Amino acid sequence: MNAYVKNIFLLLLILVCSAPSQGQDLLTMQAPIDTKLKALDSLSLIRMVEKEKFSNPAAALYGNWGEHYSARTAVVPDSFVIDLTRFHMPTTSHIITSDYGVRRGRQHKGVDIKVYTGDTIRSVFSGKVRIVRYDEKGYGNYVVIRHHNGLETIYGHMSKNLVAQDAEVRAGTPIGLGGNSGRTADSHLHFETRFCGIALDPALLFDFRNQDVTGDTYLFCRNQTAGNNQQAKTETAAVRYHKVASGETLASIARKHSTTVDDLCHLNHIGKSARLRVGQILKYNQ
Ligand SMILES: [Zn+2]
Repeated sequence: MNAYVKNIFLLLLILVCSAPSQGQDLLTMQAPIDTKLKALDSLSLIRMVEKEKFSNPAAALYGNWGEHYSARTAVVPDSFVIDLTRFHMPTTSHIITSDYGVRRGRQHKGVDIKVYTGDTIRSVFSGKVRIVRYDEKGYGNYVVIRHHNGLETIYGHMSKNLVAQDAEVRAGTPIGLGGNSGRTADSHLHFETRFCGIALDPALLFDFRNQDVTGDTYLFCRNQTAGNNQQAKTETAAVRYHKVASGETLASIARKHSTTVDDLCHLNHIGKSARLRVGQILKYNQ
């Protein structure tokens, strides 16, 4: 809430400063200011807060600007629409070397994308850099960005961090170079997407194979993610997502969701003979 109060003061300040001032003495200057302040009744104040919330939901979600890589908020909303428009892919690589989910008995809270040392890594949305650090036994060189749409993203194992803490970034701003720093055997980008500290499968938001987002928005539902992040689904535009399990084929998935192989192929830009990977996310229409 502190961020709100600050923003309201800022807006008031802007209004006060924008009052006409040329050739006026202090007294006459006072009049328009008072009028403007009076005009800021509770309704317009509420409108202003609502507008601010819409343009920067992150300000409403996160009270703190801490150092811990997974910022937790006191209150996680029951549902929240995350705006995925105006994105940029973190890398041009299409190759996922490790999916989100349980790996060797541990939860792998992101996806690993094949990159080579020196490859440019970019911010996926606009926002502000919250953490830039080196963690020898874990993420190596890593950057955490809090985006205006409410998401936080983490980029790990980079050979170099290119941004400073508190820097403002846009979607596509280079934030680091690919590498294999920290606990990793080969060069790759470890990429996480978190909402209020809760890890979401990045494949539910990004289609790495087609270098695209999965939709204009993603509906976060607390109940679906609290128990099992992998169950998170989006309700927007009647598109649903299926996570490929071992032994499944396009035909069996099509049957399961009362659709056709043709529709699945069309929707996911794949051929009928495409080899499916366990953990791969497929779109389907119901
Ligand atoms: Zn990883």
